[in-house]
Amino acid sequence: PFDVLIVGGGPAGSSAAIYAARKGIRTGIVAERFGGQVLDTLSIENFISVPSTEGPKLAASLEEHVKTYNVDVMNLQTAKRLEKKHLFEVTLENDAVLKAKTVILSTGARWRNVNVPGEQEYKNKGVAYCPHCDGPLFEGKDVAVIGGGNSGIEAAIDLAGIVNHVTVLEFASELKADNVLQDRANSLPNVTIITNAQTTEITGDSHVNGISYKDRETEEIHHVALQGVFVQIGLVPNTEWLDDTVERNRMGEIVVDKHGSTNVPGLFAAGDCTDSAYNQIIISMGSGATASLGAFDYMIRN
Ligand code: FAD
Repeated sequence: PFDVLIVGGGPAGSSAAIYAARKGIRTGIVAERFGGQVLDTLSIENFISVPSTEGPKLAASLEEHVKTYNVDVMNLQTAKRLEKKHLFEVTLENDAVLKAKTVILSTGARWRNVNVPGEQEYKNKGVAYCPHCDGPLFEGKDVAVIGGGNSGIEAAIDLAGIVNHVTVLEFASELKADNVLQDRANSLPNVTIITNAQTTEITGDSHVNGISYKDRETEEIHHVALQGVFVQIGLVPNTEWLDDTVERNRMGEIVVDKHGSTNVPGLFAAGDCTDSAYNQIIISMGSGATASLGAFDYMIRN
């Protein structure tokens, strides 16, 4: 069995693997897609000590760093079940079972879908999730942002500097974003914010050509002609597969303490799949290190 088995190969999992391997214990890492969200990121300018890099480049260095240690890297493998018997047992999609004394969950998160007609059909044909990655593709065009939380309003402010016009559609009667972001967005001449707006459809031909929404007060359907839609309604932790084997909060995030321990002895978690306050590369890496040291501490006591 592994001493430490890490599930998830993003910044958190990579960091956890390196910290574990440096203790000379038997370490494995299973990843559906090594690199995680970093692979989808264009430019990264807040990874301290690296003034500027690109996602795929950082993802490659993560893997390279992990592979300088004696770590069993199982890429393109998805975990579907976790059980605690005498040891932990992680079952993969292909029904292989991996056994371990301790497990670190670092399965990250993904963008939430709005689930209206047109969203799947026009993904990468005008429907986007990452303003940092795809904003420049819409230079000079009209776009919508679905969602008036911090990420939606940040996206609107960001896009306003690139595109011709941004329409923000917020389902609730008011925006949930911080006031300073709202003030900034309201000061921009090419941003229109519509509240009480339920997106009903993303329309298009070969590419997005508009968005329909229902005014929740009047029940009227409106259509806005535009070329891009950014969906910004939050990140969902990749934790569904865990069912109730471990305590998760109302958002599905794994609850951890300051050692990265979950409510199950020997089971740790790190990064965006946990209830940590912010989701950033540097934060995930820090929590991966914490969880790994936590797991090592647990092992030497048990
Ligand atoms: P992830 O990176 O999500 O990695 C999760 C890993 O788990 C992946 O390997 C995944 O394949 C794997 N996995 C999931 N489920 C399973 C399963 N069942 N079995 C096996 N493996 C599984 N942060 C910054 O600091 N600066 C930025 O500029 C920045 N820009 C971003 C831009 C975009 C477009 C996105 C999406 C995120 C950005 N972030 C940025 C956030 C940052 O990428 C995340 O906070 C960070 O990647 C989280 O790391 P993680 O290891 O917790 O999870």
